Amino acid sequence: MLFVVTGPSGCGKSSIIHHVMRDLRNIRFSISHTTRPRRPSEQDGRDYHFIGRTEFERMVAKKQFVEWALVHGHCYGTSKAEIEEKGAIGDLILDIDVQGARQIKSGPLRAVFVFILPPKHEELRRRLRERGEDKPEIIARRLKNARREIRHYADFDYVVVNNKLDQAVLELESVILGSRCRTDVRKAEILAILKSFK
Ligand code: 5GP
Repeated sequence: MLFVVTGPSGCGKSSIIHHVMRDLRNIRFSISHTTRPRRPSEQDGRDYHFIGRTEFERMVAKKQFVEWALVHGHCYGTSKAEIEEKGAIGDLILDIDVQGARQIKSGPLRAVFVFILPPKHEELRRRLRERGEDKPEIIARRLKNARREIRHYADFDYVVVNNKLDQAVLELESVILGSRCRTDVRKAEILAILKSFK
């Protein structure tokens, strides 16, 4: 199953996902391609595949993305290869924006959509400032985009409010574990159990 996790920049998505990946088994993280410059704390191939605009455009032209979008002035995309390779093995988490989530929703892939909300606007501003990795004008742009993005919460199946990190992690884990217990998702396992009763 694909878990599409969306939320405004600075809402704590990456930390929540990081904890979920540590706690749960059989779940992987989809590494996106981006033209955004790498932050000091990031590693190429671990956080993103950092590529140039020309290469990104070449991948778009070759239809190598399942979704892509221009976010805060940079291109971001989920490659088909990433979904095919990692998605075939088990559950996969995608950390993407609202535009990307919409593209996945209107496409053929089946996914669970989760929106992460910050507890309030001041808190989002505080977190973006404290992260200390972006310039003030970039923070201002991200806050402006957040106002627009959060209006789309109702397009998602679940909402997690990141007030306390531990609680938010527990909530996302509950969504994932709950989805794994769906009757249709467990069909093969159920049939094997039923067969043993014959
Ligand atoms: P950041 O630059 O802070 O890492 O990410 C900025 C925004 O881009 C976040 O909302 C993040 O979810 C989104 N993003 C990251 N990867 C992708 C992707 O592959 N596709 C789309 N549509 N958005 C992405």
